Amino acid sequence: MKSFDVCVVGGGFSGLYISSMIDGDLHIFEEHSSVGFPMHCAGIISPRTFDMLNVPRSLVEAEYHGMVIHFGDYKVYWFGKPLALRVDRVGLERYLYDKCCSLGHVFHFNSFVSNVDPNGFIYVGDLKFNSKLIILAEGSRRVFSRRLGLVGFGDDFYGFQALIRGGVGSEFIHVYIDRDFSDYFSWFIPIGDDRCIVGLMVRNSMDFKPKFNALLKRLEFEGLLSKVHFERFFGGLIIRGPIGSYGCGRVLAIGDSIQMSKPLTGGGLYPICLASKVLSKLINSYLSGFIDLSDISALYKPFFDELSRRFKLSFKLVKLLSKLNYRVLEDFIVGGCRLKLHANLLSNVDYDEPLYGILEDHAKLVKFFAALLAGLIP
Ligand SMILES: Cc1cc2nc3c(=O)[nH]c(=O)nc-3n(C[C@H](O)[C@H](O)[C@H](O)COP(=O)(O)OP(=O)(O)OC[C@H]3O[C@@H](n4cnc5c(N)ncnc54)[C@H](O)[C@@H]3O)c2cc1C
Repeated sequence: MKSFDVCVVGGGFSGLYISSMIDGDLHIFEEHSSVGFPMHCAGIISPRTFDMLNVPRSLVEAEYHGMVIHFGDYKVYWFGKPLALRVDRVGLERYLYDKCCSLGHVFHFNSFVSNVDPNGFIYVGDLKFNSKLIILAEGSRRVFSRRLGLVGFGDDFYGFQALIRGGVGSEFIHVYIDRDFSDYFSWFIPIGDDRCIVGLMVRNSMDFKPKFNALLKRLEFEGLLSKVHFERFFGGLIIRGPIGSYGCGRVLAIGDSIQMSKPLTGGGLYPICLASKVLSKLINSYLSGFIDLSDISALYKPFFDELSRRFKLSFKLVKLLSKLNYRVLEDFIVGGCRLKLHANLLSNVDYDEPLYGILEDHAKLVKFFAALLAGLIP
């Protein structure tokens, strides 16, 4: 049986990103034959998350200075300078892969991990490996995180997307909160060179086709899209939390494996960046002999608890909104438009943690309540 410092289960974004900041004898086990595929992510992140990534600017494919949120016939604008960026997701994972290789990390492709033991063992086919630490980065499948009791129930959607070439009529991201097009929200993301990504979230994968066709029609009607030519379809499970536990025994879990994603949108890159920065430093201290295994937990816990608290609060708010059938949201958007606040209702709202940002800021709360009250008036 071979022994390593660290075994990483999964060579997706979280496995690669955290590994790229760890010094040690680290082995990454990935069931696919390369990194970056199959594609699933839209790659939209805030400028702050991009800065945290610490990767070359050339990986930015597009910048967005605005987002239009459509609710029925109403529109709310969200501006930023820029508000969001699109990163080349395949290029990002390849960059992180190269970084890991330059640190001497070893990749085991086509290696499906069949079991993870919290005492520090992983199983791949007939082989068994021992390590001081296991980083569980298995993504949305959550087989081991469920087996180890790190996550309970999940609030998942199927996320379907199409990469489209055609006439693209906007430089803004457009988001539709409309049951005709999705079970949550759908999106239009221009990415340059007459191409865009059109996608939606559904609970039942069978609902994809009719909703997608309806969305395309709406985009064509609004002049956002014409002469549609599909280049590829892609997607996967969109995880919206609630966030689970970070580990047990010698296992530390990160990313979609423990539902570490933004409750409002399901975006995972922001929290993964935050958590990886903290956790990788602690792992390096442990591997250098400065701290014990139990210290990793003790030192990581306050950071993780705070992140969990904010995300759980946002998760509850999102659930409440969906239970109310988005009535509150509708009133709020209608009110915002009536008060002529639609162009600045969301100004200075944090892209990564919008709900928490609004709850924390009294001036913003007042503005939101005013919009809601105005929307409640028949
Ligand atoms: C449609 C869609 C759009 C999205 N858009 C955005 C966005 O715009 N912005 C954003 O921030 N986030 C977005 N996300 C979420 C983001 O993609 C995820 O949060 C992120 O990829 C999670 O990274 P991960 O490494 O935890 O999981 P993954 O990227 O899924 O990686 C897990 C890896 O583990 C491997 N693996 C799993 N089990 C095993 C096993 N037993 N043995 C070996 N290997 C294994 C898998 O092959 C995979 O490579 C989107 C997700 C979807 C589905």
